[in-house]
Amino acid sequence: MIEESIKKSIRDIVDFPKPGIVFIDITPILKDQNLCSNIVDAFVEELKDLDFDAIAGIESRGFLFGLMLANKLNKPFIPIRKAGKLPYTTIQQSYDLEYGSAVIEVHADAFKPGAKILIHDDLLATGGTVEATSLLIQKMEGIVAGFTFIVGLEFLNGKNKLAHFSKNIYTLAK
Ligand code: 5GP
Repeated sequence: MIEESIKKSIRDIVDFPKPGIVFIDITPILKDQNLCSNIVDAFVEELKDLDFDAIAGIESRGFLFGLMLANKLNKPFIPIRKAGKLPYTTIQQSYDLEYGSAVIEVHADAFKPGAKILIHDDLLATGGTVEATSLLIQKMEGIVAGFTFIVGLEFLNGKNKLAHFSKNIYTLAK
């Protein structure tokens, strides 16, 4: 099963990026091309009845499978980046972090009003990053069609922040 294969591959890194945090490292997945293909195929299966126009991937690990999936489904890919990285005119959204705040942005011409956007990231923790991405998409008059994550940390209840944007929340491993 895909969930077991993902769990076998990812690893916990203690005290990264700072003491007290256990970071889930997904990069071992990238060394296994069969697992990468199986992950993409699992997302394709989950999404088979969902109507959407493009996939927005969140910097930087959301680019990895976001682009693979967009390519497989023959859909455009939209990079969502931290402020100051995108070269063209951008639209921004700020959001609160545990300490302080952050800003994400997207190119102003990334999609047309009314476009249905699937948001992808590697991992769902508190949901703050995808919530901000959803607000950014709505600011550009896009429609949030759903969310995909390789890993969703259930105990942090991130899904609660997303349900009012879309109920279509797909996580391959919990
Ligand atoms: P959230 O905003 O849901 O609290 O955090 C999710 C965002 O932070 C995602 O962009 C994700 O890539 C990153 N993130 C937070 N914790 C982890 C972790 O333990 N492992 C990985 N791979 N990413 C994490």
